Amino acid sequence: MDVSRSSFDLVVLGGGPTGIGCASAADRLGKRVLLIERESKLGGLARQIECGGYAIDPGGHRLLCSHPEQFDFWNRLARRAGVNLVEVSRCSSIYWAGSTIDYPINWDQFRGALPWMFRIRVGISAIIWRLIGDPSRSLADYGKYYYGGFLHSRFMSLHTQKVFGRSGRSLSASWARQRIAAPRLFDILRAALPWSAKTRVEGKDFYLYPGGGLGRLWAGLEGALSARSRVEKNARLCALRRREDDGTWVVDVELDGELATVQSTSIISTVPPEVLLELLGESSLASQFEASFERRNLVVVLVHCPELAMRWTHQQWIYLHDKCIRCSRIQNYQNWTGLNIADPILGMEYNVGADTDDSSVESLVRESAIADLQTLSVSVDNYAVVGTVAIPNAYLNFGSQSSEFANLDQTLRSGYPGLITTGRQGAGLYINLDQSLRLGQVCAELPATASGVHGLEYGEYQERV
Ligand SMILES: Cc1cc2nc3c(=O)[nH]c(=O)nc-3n(C[C@H](O)[C@H](O)[C@H](O)COP(=O)(O)OP(=O)(O)OC[C@H]3O[C@@H](n4cnc5c(N)ncnc54)[C@H](O)[C@@H]3O)c2cc1C
Repeated sequence: MDVSRSSFDLVVLGGGPTGIGCASAADRLGKRVLLIERESKLGGLARQIECGGYAIDPGGHRLLCSHPEQFDFWNRLARRAGVNLVEVSRCSSIYWAGSTIDYPINWDQFRGALPWMFRIRVGISAIIWRLIGDPSRSLADYGKYYYGGFLHSRFMSLHTQKVFGRSGRSLSASWARQRIAAPRLFDILRAALPWSAKTRVEGKDFYLYPGGGLGRLWAGLEGALSARSRVEKNARLCALRRREDDGTWVVDVELDGELATVQSTSIISTVPPEVLLELLGESSLASQFEASFERRNLVVVLVHCPELAMRWTHQQWIYLHDKCIRCSRIQNYQNWTGLNIADPILGMEYNVGADTDDSSVESLVRESAIADLQTLSVSVDNYAVVGTVAIPNAYLNFGSQSSEFANLDQTLRSGYPGLITTGRQGAGLYINLDQSLRLGQVCAELPATASGVHGLEYGEYQERV
């Protein structure tokens, strides 16, 4: 099918999980759908990438399933995509001052891993902050209230700084509420006391992962689309307009270097709002977004390092909370059941401002990775850098653009019937994979004339760590 001059019921902009969920659901409703993606692969932030001969999942994406509905959701989706899901026990930890502490914190393991004096300070500080703290002010306040100022300063604030490049005081508490577990003060205090009995035993902690990696899931969902729908990758969006006479949407898009014009009854955008606004010619609102967003790219340095991989056998990832280490997290790919990587390959994660000059990023992160490996006492003969991978827009100052999104919502509802923006990028909220896929599905079921920003409210969150 030649998409040029073709007409669709729905054009979806962006082939991340929200866009895929949307296209898939609309297709199943009998609509003729065109999904337009800029990259060569679907999956967005969760896409599989080839680097140094390895197919990796650069962010380390878990199919979360702490609730039975999530478990059923993933299994239904996997059946549709024709992929097998593997059940994986969660094994991640924090490396801090030579110790490895389970994360999410298991207070029994915490008690065994850290010295008594440290734990007493954790306990006293936790009591004080439950009395004087206010978890609703900011991410930092949330962390201090639930974990105490002492543990927050040792384990959390540095991580926030590494990932977001700014203090948790300037990030929203709503984001923290969604993401970070709120432990019982009782459990923290029992872990602080040297003679206390075991704390509450947590339930089974596992997640799902597609055999062969996440790429199989996205490819399977693409393959499950009917013949009437279509996916265009490596596509460059040029313009978006609505015909006054009959209200049809017209999308100009460059495919394989050729300009194509596509018509559609409605549009669902999951790309960043400033991209959508530029396509519509709404430059002033686009600039407001650009000014308020602080976007951060994730850059992963892939390292062949048997020594560290051995040291951290059975750990899927390790957060590095030491000040002298710039890396925020290490993925131990050999331990990612489902990815089928047999070699001792580690992914060292760095976060840089999206405006950092591209040419300097690669050398900067490689130098940091080498310095970090040395700090972790890996000798020069024991590692080799295999490559680097960058994921743009991995993080941003979530939840800080409420007035801009209210403006955008108003603009779309008043002047652009049939145009919806949504998703992690399009509504500016931190959401997980299952929430993204479901949000896409909800939008696909809206009437063709619906417009505005959808997904602005945090849905019920399923898992906090
Ligand atoms: C490091 C990291 C780890 C994560 N780990 C987990 C996890 O373990 N479990 C979990 O459930 N969630 C996790 N998430 C969250 C998950 O990645 C998101 O929920 C999900 O990717 C959001 O999907 P989306 O489609 O809304 O946005 P995105 O994934 O950002 O997709 C947007 C898509 O739009 C495309 N696009 C952008 N501009 C254009 C354009 N001009 N033209 C065409 N296409 C364009 C992009 O290329 C992309 O494919 C993690 C996120 C990060 C950053």
